Amino acid sequence: MQDQPDTILNKSVQEQLGIVFQQLPRNIPLYLFTQVGNNDVFNQAARQLIRAFREITPKIEFKEYDLNHDLAKKWDVYRSPTILFDPERYPIRWLGAPMGEEGRTFLEALLLIGMENSNLSDQALKVLDKIESKRDIKIFVSPTCPYCPQQAVNGLKLVVEKSELITLEIIDIQCNPDLADRYSAQSVPQTYANEVLIAQGAQPEELFALSLEKMEQQTLFIPETDAELIETDLVIVGGGPAGLTAGIYAVRSGIKAAVIEKGALGGQVATTPVVENYPGFTSVGGKTLVDFMVSHALEYVQIFQGEEVVDIQPGEPIKVITSRRQFLTKAVLLATGATYRHLGVPGETRLAGRGVSYCSTCDGPLFKDKNVVIVGGGNSAVTEALHLHHIGVNVTIIHRRDSFRCQEHLTKNVLDNNIPVMWNTEVKEVRGEEKVEEVVLYNNQSKETLEFPTNGVFIAIGYTPAVELAKKIGLELTPEGYIKRDSHHRTNIPGIYSAGDVEGGYKQIVTATGQGTEAAISIFEDLMNPYWKKKGNE
Ligand code: NAP
Repeated sequence: MQDQPDTILNKSVQEQLGIVFQQLPRNIPLYLFTQVGNNDVFNQAARQLIRAFREITPKIEFKEYDLNHDLAKKWDVYRSPTILFDPERYPIRWLGAPMGEEGRTFLEALLLIGMENSNLSDQALKVLDKIESKRDIKIFVSPTCPYCPQQAVNGLKLVVEKSELITLEIIDIQCNPDLADRYSAQSVPQTYANEVLIAQGAQPEELFALSLEKMEQQTLFIPETDAELIETDLVIVGGGPAGLTAGIYAVRSGIKAAVIEKGALGGQVATTPVVENYPGFTSVGGKTLVDFMVSHALEYVQIFQGEEVVDIQPGEPIKVITSRRQFLTKAVLLATGATYRHLGVPGETRLAGRGVSYCSTCDGPLFKDKNVVIVGGGNSAVTEALHLHHIGVNVTIIHRRDSFRCQEHLTKNVLDNNIPVMWNTEVKEVRGEEKVEEVVLYNNQSKETLEFPTNGVFIAIGYTPAVELAKKIGLELTPEGYIKRDSHHRTNIPGIYSAGDVEGGYKQIVTATGQGTEAAISIFEDLMNPYWKKKGNE
């Protein structure tokens, strides 16, 4: 087959990358190991991708060998395809072909190796310094998971920084379902070190380093105090539609602003399979829409991604402490969105990542031709059920009522596609040893209980507002638990505002962008006025 770099990377991207690669101090030797008849589609995809990059820059030295070659024995390579990145210097291997979202990780890998510099934050470096024994990292990823690149790049940075102690395997679960099965890794990204599960989901790099040091998942990182200081007018916490739109409006109005996002940009939209009600787009992948929004926002506002806000100290100025630095700012906009609501039944937490999933776009492909249930009856559950059905998963919807609470158009699609629905049915327990094997269902009309065999349980029962920071600083909440604010998005604390799903309301992408717009305009007006100072003098 002919190389077709143009179909993988467009001309202008190729040119820009060519300039970046040109400046790298080191060459990047890449070794691809394949075996004919063993994962041929992935072998070909890996080969094509590497060749496409080699077309752009002579810095990439590409060699391909059969799995029987001596070099495969030398480096202990036994799976097809496997990519080794500069194996004489770095113990980094990729099992599978870097496709879809993983393309971002692959590019980062090339740049990190070519730069010979991890670019880790000072805070992460301090944690890494404490690691004194060997750590063999495995990160399970998939091409459709927007969270995965962040976690995989964390792993890459750590190896580039400390290759004498840290090794890394990035494992594509679609290409290596047997490995995913062996580790019961049915949710991505999932990270192991020395065969111990140390993280589920994507983490800021400091938390990843800390989890690796402690050898168990860490949820809180307290930065040391000598962090860098940035002065600005507005800090926006959250990089979903509300936060990104607020960034665009704030900077265009003339104030300095920064967006801080600890996880994947785009929030819930990034994992929405398809969006059909955002004006201007008849039908668009959630991740594609996010990419448009992020590139637009980057035209104006600096985005600090993978960085977590750990504290906000109200005052004049307000101090915002993140996992990497401190911001002194006149205003803060909380656009922290919402997180997946949990069922709260036995087995759900224990089997999370073992068949229990909250992200059908990330984990759905692993369940192709298998049986899963999706729990819920709102727009999310039905959209995701349709997505799972269309990618070849045998999905049954479990809903506690006798009708959906979603758009009529979606209900019709479920019926047209003959997706089975179990009405008036509640999940009482998720069962399984190593992974999900069955759910216990209860029919709230007939009062009957049923043990229902299934390989996966996708939960889409709505979201709970992400108000941890708001609570910590003493913001008033509504009785439903959302941030309480006035018609200008001002909260009860001077200088602090809110926007998007964290405020409750209709929770649509367009309403979030609208609230982000309103909040940014309001903040601009309050800073010019100045509203809080006058209020304080009343
Ligand atoms: P939602 O609209 O709040 O619906 C949640 C669903 O889960 C409801 O059917 C609810 O049942 C059920 N549920 C809640 N708790 C449950 C529990 N403990 N056990 C079993 N079932 C439970 O949530 P969503 O579908 O995630 O949507 C969130 C927001 O995003 C909504 O405002 C929605 O309109 C919006 N959204 C819009 C689109 C779109 O426009 N295309 C797509 C996705 C999401 P009951 O009906 O019995 O309460």
